[in-house]
Amino acid sequence: MSTIVVAGGAGFLGSTLIERLLAGNARVICVDNLLTGRLANIAPYFNNRLFQFIRHDIIDPLEIDGPVSEIYNLACAASPNKYQADPFHTFETSIYGAKNLLNLAMQKRARILQASTSEVYGDPEISPQPESYRGQVNACGPRACYDEGKRAAETLFFEYGTRRDVETRIVRIFNTYGPRMAPDDGRVVSNFITQALLGEDLTVNGTGQQTRSFCYVDDLIEGLMRLMAAPPGTRAPVNIGNPGEFTMLELADLVLAKTGTSSRLCFRDLPVDDPRQRRPDITLAKALLGWEPKVALSEGLDRTIAYFRNELGLGELARLRQA
Ligand code: UDP
Repeated sequence: MSTIVVAGGAGFLGSTLIERLLAGNARVICVDNLLTGRLANIAPYFNNRLFQFIRHDIIDPLEIDGPVSEIYNLACAASPNKYQADPFHTFETSIYGAKNLLNLAMQKRARILQASTSEVYGDPEISPQPESYRGQVNACGPRACYDEGKRAAETLFFEYGTRRDVETRIVRIFNTYGPRMAPDDGRVVSNFITQALLGEDLTVNGTGQQTRSFCYVDDLIEGLMRLMAAPPGTRAPVNIGNPGEFTMLELADLVLAKTGTSSRLCFRDLPVDDPRQRRPDITLAKALLGWEPKVALSEGLDRTIAYFRNELGLGELARLRQA
């Protein structure tokens, strides 16, 4: 039976991945420091004998007994306000964390997948962004701790892959949303939905004309698993994201319409270095993995709104409990 380590397994992506891995009868070791990950995300797995949780910060070397076949590195705060809260820790998580897990992969002869990010493209000058685009990142700005950390982690993966023969995988993840996001995550989809459900005004940064491409979590996880299973030597970075591109005003309108809220929009300053546009070119993922997203934004938002209704205690279940 294969043993799979998921670093960052208590997070929104990690816990969704673990559900899929357990359903496939893999033994899963979830490693998380619970900085942004939540026990609530993995609580349903605690009575599964295939599941083990280790509270650990991957900044420190990780020791695991017995064989390991695969390692997913999803450990890092990903919401701008969370990763900027302690930029040193964010930077170290990407670099030391990647190195520690790569050493573990080398020791166990395991495959290892790095969750990289569309942030390696910075504020892109071309759209959509293919993997060959080298990006426009500010090394001395508030987003740099994340962007440059993730870029350096890609370099480590490249070197361990080419010089130390580790079976590395790099996925560049574009904006992802869905159930298991924390209500206080701070990213735009969770902010807009929780604000709408609570009747608060939706906080639009800047003019709201900047764009993002939103991928539903299940589609993303399918892409990660396919990349992990790709033929030996598939070491080059692969974009995984949904090419549907929306302005933040369009997203806000969708959320207002779907929730039927009386909330309005309020405008705040655009954060420094906030990318003006972002859209994945997924030609490579289609050719290499036969992958493309299946869940359109409208459908994904419906599912995510239903999830947040319950999280905020506004769901049917909550109403019945109170009755
Ligand atoms: N944003 C916004 N309101 C919010 C949170 C974010 O308008 O309450 C904007 C943010 O400035 C950016 C976009 O939404 O232009 C996506 O932000 P997010 O934090 O979700 O992810 P990013 O792609 O910037 O990492």
